[in-house]
Amino acid sequence: MAIIIDGKQISADIRAEVAVEVEKMKTDHGLTPGLAVVLVGEDPASQVYVRNKESACHEVGFNSFKYELPADTTQEKLMQLVDELNCRDDVHGILVQLPLPKHLDSSLVLLAIDPNKDVDGFHPVNVGRLAVGQATLPPCTPAGCVELLKRSGAELEGANAVIVGRSNIVGKPAALLLLSENCTVTIAHSKTKDLPGVCRAADILVAAVGIPKMITGDMVGEGATVIDVGINRTAEGLVGDVDFEAASQKARAITPVPGGVGPMTIAMLMKNTLKAAQMR
Ligand code: NDP
Repeated sequence: MAIIIDGKQISADIRAEVAVEVEKMKTDHGLTPGLAVVLVGEDPASQVYVRNKESACHEVGFNSFKYELPADTTQEKLMQLVDELNCRDDVHGILVQLPLPKHLDSSLVLLAIDPNKDVDGFHPVNVGRLAVGQATLPPCTPAGCVELLKRSGAELEGANAVIVGRSNIVGKPAALLLLSENCTVTIAHSKTKDLPGVCRAADILVAAVGIPKMITGDMVGEGATVIDVGINRTAEGLVGDVDFEAASQKARAITPVPGGVGPMTIAMLMKNTLKAAQMR
């Protein structure tokens, strides 16, 4: 039976580590990291995410600035707010909660954020820095996957890492991060031939697809470490992209859903905001 990687505990450990650094920063430099979160409209899921981010900020000792704009906010108004936040000295991180209402162009908004305050790690400058191996603010979910691997004792150097999914927010950056950890990386996607065979060869298998339980037990190699990024709402509740019961018979270690990758995203957001403040 596999070790269950406890994302809740690891995320709490990271937030506690960030809190210690924040305390030091306040004492040594009189500086408090600040995160601005911008929410446009009233999407209930986004409201929950923003509330959680706000309470994580308070927990680690950050200043938190919340901007709730009406659903009919114009592109110009939103860009104006981003500009103001870019210029503020007390704001070290800016996060615009996605998805935005349909009339707004999110790529223009993300481009407008100062890359050094882009704590989501989505700005092309930060993606480029990641690609060429420069210090950057990495996207939170894939960075959380790497942290889970490291803290659960997975051997990364020389490991065969297979990432299923090539999205810009999870799959691709996860591949770049694992490459920088000296894994031998394969990115699989919907056109990959013999996906089960590719997955079985993985020492580290990251599933970021969005299809409930699509990674079956026979796709997992003996002793692999399995990271399930998927969050799928089904009749049986929240399930991942991995068939947890079957995969845990083969894996060395595996993340559950919920309680695996999910809680890591906010912890890594806190880490990125601290890093952005330190870089300043
Ligand atoms: P996307 O829909 O953007 O990407 C899905 C990827 O899966 C695509 O690259 C697609 O390939 C690939 N894919 C689809 N079907 C198959 C298939 N049959 N075989 C192999 N590959 C396939 O999803 P995201 O990356 O945004 O999210 C993935 C999952 O992670 C979702 O469940 C999402 O909810 C979850 N998620 C969780 C987060 C967290 O905090 N825990 C944060 C972000 C996402 P192709 O490119 O060829 O179409």
